[in-house]
Amino acid sequence: MKVLLVAPPIMDDLFWDKPQAIAMDAVRECPPYGVYLLQAVLRQAQHEAIVADLIADGSDQIEPYLKDLQDCGLVGIAATSMSWPTAVSVIIQLRKLRPDVPIVLGGIHPTMFDYYILNTYQVDYIVRGEGEIAIQALCAALERGDGVENVPNLSWRDRSGQVVRNPIGPKLSKTALGDFPLPDFSSLPMKLYKGLSIESSRGCAFDCSFCSTSYRKTWRGMPAEVFVDRLQQMMPQAERTQLDMIHVIDDEFTMNPKRTLEITEIFRKRSLTPTLVFDSRATDLLHEGLIASIAPYTGQFLVGAECGYDEGLLKIGKGTTTQILEDAARMLHKHGLSGQADFSFVIGLPWETAKEVRQTCAFAAHLFATYGVRILLQWYCQIPGSRLWEADRDAGLVNEAMYNNYGFFRDLYLFRAGVKLSPKEIWQISGLVTSLQTMSRLQYPDRTMVEYGHPEPIALFYPEEVMTRHPDGLASLREVAMPEKTLQPIRLDPVSSRAISTERPLRHIGA
Ligand code: SF4
Repeated sequence: MKVLLVAPPIMDDLFWDKPQAIAMDAVRECPPYGVYLLQAVLRQAQHEAIVADLIADGSDQIEPYLKDLQDCGLVGIAATSMSWPTAVSVIIQLRKLRPDVPIVLGGIHPTMFDYYILNTYQVDYIVRGEGEIAIQALCAALERGDGVENVPNLSWRDRSGQVVRNPIGPKLSKTALGDFPLPDFSSLPMKLYKGLSIESSRGCAFDCSFCSTSYRKTWRGMPAEVFVDRLQQMMPQAERTQLDMIHVIDDEFTMNPKRTLEITEIFRKRSLTPTLVFDSRATDLLHEGLIASIAPYTGQFLVGAECGYDEGLLKIGKGTTTQILEDAARMLHKHGLSGQADFSFVIGLPWETAKEVRQTCAFAAHLFATYGVRILLQWYCQIPGSRLWEADRDAGLVNEAMYNNYGFFRDLYLFRAGVKLSPKEIWQISGLVTSLQTMSRLQYPDRTMVEYGHPEPIALFYPEEVMTRHPDGLASLREVAMPEKTLQPIRLDPVSSRAISTERPLRHIGA
């Protein structure tokens, strides 16, 4: 069977007449691993699989793939919540171009909202959770003309229109993860992506309250030797990228520090010198010898620091403290690795007042000023799937229908359902961070050491101008009484005249 697999980018349409890629997909950090892996799995099962890499295209348009679309027997689309509006755009186009082709969705957003999506959009199937086994079983069933009752993880509609949820199959073992063929990146456009992508483990042993990643509380790491074999096989293709780096897409690459040490030991024995991008926890970094052993292979890494006060870290449940974060930053500085480390903080968590947000900003500033780590300050965003989101859904504050349109993250209601600070407090914090950014530029004129984005809903609905109440309205009254002869069109400037950016903070790959 011929299958067209679509990878939609994260997009927005606020400032442009057509949607544009934003955030990590605007800078094309790395190719979408999951979609290319499914392509390899399907090819191994003797299917023809084509990837419509819309992230590489920087577009939501499926028409360039019309030829493949016309003779394929199945279209698969993978989507997170952030890329879901683009997936919706693709579904609408597909239904115009090929009303008859079965469409299967996968990824975290369709997994969470299978009932809603199957009842709302013209799609046929949703794979919940891991897709490698399910998509092969689905292709086989469609080819045979059988029913899909036995396809694991599949949600679908029966003849009466009722949504049926097939049972979830066993999670892939750590050995099975390493048995899949590697994605084929040999036809990626030259020097388009910053790096390649690879997986060394799936899931995470923790369940942080704000985190919406899949497979929390289940971590499965490939054996060190297997991962290095796969990485070694992929390394020559990294030349196709801008920075010759390989992005380990794991939620937490160093989750098992002993395995990380084994991996670096194999690198050393085989004289391999990959440049890796990965995510890590501060606690893991303090494992004896880990920083020194991983340093020669580190291009950039992100430490999820999250909070600058211990009560907040306890509520998040990541198993770290401010002392651990500081110790990790100190160790990185000692080993000359702090310049490659981005410490990421979440501000405006639902329980936080302005005081706690300031504490986090002050702690982050301290780590940057003392140890030279870069800091990312990101406002809490109500992304589905986390424990906090589930609690808000139970309270009737959020639901699955709030993520269908471009720019859902600009929705004032959605933002304020999560962040409980007043617009005035948020503006004050933005002012504080902007001062911090100015100071950081004095010390590091060529590098952005403090990444921050003022929340778009506040910039749009509470621009700084409306935050200042004038002492009396007489001046305005006189202006109204004597209007100007020529009426000028009203120009809406969503951001104040102050130099405050609403860009999303991004990790610093290659910066
Ligand atoms: S934030 Fe990191 S440590 Fe916490 S659950 Fe998510 S992936 Fe795991």
